[in-house]
Amino acid sequence: MTDNATPKTDWLLEVNNLSCGYGDGSVVKDISFALSHGDIGCLLGPSGCGKSTILRALAGFLPIYGGEICLQSHTISLPGRTLAPEKRKIGMVFQDYALFPHMTVADNVGFGLRNERGPDKRTKVMELLKLVHLQDLADSYPHELSGGQQQRVALARALAPEPTLILLDEPFSNLDADLRRRLSLDVRDILKTLGISAILVTHDQQEAFAMCDQVAVLRDGEIQQWDVPFNLYHEPANRFVASFVGQGGFIPGTVLGPDTIQSELGVIRGNRAYKWQNGTLVDVLIRPDDIVYDPESGLKPRVVEKTFAGTSTLYRFRMSEETEFETLFRSHLDFHLGEAVPIRVEADHLIAFERT
Ligand code: ADP
Ligand code: MG
Repeated sequence: MTDNATPKTDWLLEVNNLSCGYGDGSVVKDISFALSHGDIGCLLGPSGCGKSTILRALAGFLPIYGGEICLQSHTISLPGRTLAPEKRKIGMVFQDYALFPHMTVADNVGFGLRNERGPDKRTKVMELLKLVHLQDLADSYPHELSGGQQQRVALARALAPEPTLILLDEPFSNLDADLRRRLSLDVRDILKTLGISAILVTHDQQEAFAMCDQVAVLRDGEIQQWDVPFNLYHEPANRFVASFVGQGGFIPGTVLGPDTIQSELGVIRGNRAYKWQNGTLVDVLIRPDDIVYDPESGLKPRVVEKTFAGTSTLYRFRMSEETEFETLFRSHLDFHLGEAVPIRVEADHLIAFERT
């Protein structure tokens, strides 16, 4: 099916109106996105929303019900036509590493080079191990390695056949927070150095933001927004994205003008014009970084919750029954529960949704 296809676009990967699932039920419903050469994309969403199912369809393990998947302008999946996984030039890395326990690190990586033999193969394996900083552990066995090291081996093995695209399914979930952060940045560097595109599946928004160029936020098998991290945070397309991505909550407001909303935190003015009529009731998104401490301010909500986090403290403030919100202050700004604290809203990005 890859023969004689005429190139359509410059995209590396195009997913058009994809639907797929198991048995009779569709899990993934009519999703579309496209990834540029060299970019790292992300499927971000709560557990069970269909992320791994999409990866299985991309890898060719799952036939699709509707739409199409194109890789380098060749159609690799259509309803009733699925190019076999081994013919796709797609590599996979899983959460549980899936290394061969009875093989050394070098042999695990060499497994990706089944068709090559001799000194050339060894040279290539050592190059890959150097890339993932494991050249000294070539002759060790997986059980002698830490989780992070095992995942580096899995990555080297997936990179060995020089795939066009790498799929990573929650690859850092079994690692502790610190290592997860370091390894995700390392993996990003490695992929960028090689110019290899990837799709990362994760439910961790910080990981998605740190590692990926484009992120799809998924809910119940549907893409809510496909965008760069900055826009997902500052220009969420709907309430779900606003709540799932980043911290924050909603306070009630009333529209005064296209970019102006009256709330109990005063008049909030933003950088985008809405089309609502004046007087429309809305919910305004308040992020912890939208609130600043201002001793001159007459607005004095009370502290109802306080979570110390080292360099910063997360406060929950109450202005009234309806208006509660969170703020992140540097931890030297130390207030006690019940204290009235002068604050001011400083939000460049005004995000609001009509009250339903
Ligand atoms: P995620 O990776 O986002 O956590 P999955 O893609 O694994 O979600 O699962 C999406 C939905 O598909 C879930 O409701 C799950 O129960 C269902 N599902 C996953 N794998 C199978 C399977 N092999 N057979 C039937 N249903 C499945
Ligand atoms: Mg999954």
